[in-house]
Amino acid sequence: MKLPWSLECSACGKTRGAEGLPGVCDCGQPFLVRYPSAPPLGARSHLGDRPWTMWRYREWLPLADGESPVTLGEGGTPLLAVERVAARHGFGDLWVKEESGNPTGSFKARGLAAAVTRAAHAGVRRLVVPTAGNAGVALAAYAARAGVAARVYAPASTPPVILTQIRSFGAELVLVEGHIGDCGKAARAYAADTGAMDVSTLREPYRIEGKKSLGLEVVEQLGWTLPDVIVYPTGGGTGLIGMWKAFGELAAAGWVRGPLPRMYSVQSAGCAPVVQAFRAGAEACTPWPEPRTIAAGLRVPSPLGDRLMLTALRQSGGDAVAVTDAQLVAAAEQLQTLEGVDASPEGGATLAAALELKARGVVKAEQRIVLFNTGAGWLYRDSAVNISPLRSHAHRHSRPGRRHLR
Ligand SMILES: *Cc1c(COP(=O)(O)O)cnc(C)c1O
Repeated sequence: MKLPWSLECSACGKTRGAEGLPGVCDCGQPFLVRYPSAPPLGARSHLGDRPWTMWRYREWLPLADGESPVTLGEGGTPLLAVERVAARHGFGDLWVKEESGNPTGSFKARGLAAAVTRAAHAGVRRLVVPTAGNAGVALAAYAARAGVAARVYAPASTPPVILTQIRSFGAELVLVEGHIGDCGKAARAYAADTGAMDVSTLREPYRIEGKKSLGLEVVEQLGWTLPDVIVYPTGGGTGLIGMWKAFGELAAAGWVRGPLPRMYSVQSAGCAPVVQAFRAGAEACTPWPEPRTIAAGLRVPSPLGDRLMLTALRQSGGDAVAVTDAQLVAAAEQLQTLEGVDASPEGGATLAAALELKARGVVKAEQRIVLFNTGAGWLYRDSAVNISPLRSHAHRHSRPGRRHLR
């Protein structure tokens, strides 16, 4: 079938039709989807009747007329005002886009729903992905939903609950001694051998489109206005690139006015290739030699989307900051204990970065700032370790006994 959108290389500008199984351009760089026309402003009125999943924006997404997506109800997550955290740190207008309620517990659901939808419509029977964790869970679930086979390459150091989740959806899981870059090599070799489709970040054009829905949702939830500041925990960069594409498309279509948000990347000090390249004024990242952080989603030493990320950060007037694992864990705990948000380490990193940016005077107290809790904290926890003996002791003694009731 002839699809209405086309693909444009993000580096050399070469274009092609969207038929078949598009990978990267011959020049090695990612393709981006270009639509023939933007939805007219009047299309906003259809939204009232549609359920809160990311597919409510189907005119902005790679879905042809009459096609159905492969969906588990992804998207439509809450945008929470976090007033207690804001008050503690002197912010006036602080929000968290709470992505942990997505199917499979992370915002990876958005990208993989879009990629698996296109692959299924193209007749693909076998998919493969290298992962730092959550992309593997999402692929496993969406492949099951589409009735196709999935293989996942993950570092042996991936949090155990995440590995269990990947297996539970019936995917073939291969553990690799190394990081996601090593998993990527293995996945590409498997794809070359078997004809499986590689749905790695930016090796196909549709995960970015799914992540675009994050930006569309934030804007709709803010009454069709743009926030001032986006703080995004950056690994492969799909969310950063996707949201920047969303804001650009919304502005070009006249759906929003005013300056686009400043995009800020946060990485862990133990793996910060984007921060390093941004600071150096470089166009691309230098691979990070020994990526080390408990924030598995940020353990991406050599992202394929480096050029696109650096462009988004610079065009938006943003910046890139590194925070230590101690900082991101402490910030995640604040989101948990002060707000009840089940923050992942990556989600914690966005609050840690906001504090850092405010301390430096880069962001101001009155600005509207959106943080992203990209995944659920429980995926990273070993429950046996987490219930501290001290706490259970305290609970036992605070429970009212008979004597108190008499
Ligand atoms: C994958 C992941 C990230 C990083 O997202 P990218 O789009 O690859 O930059 C951040 N947080 C969590 C929880 C993730 O799973």
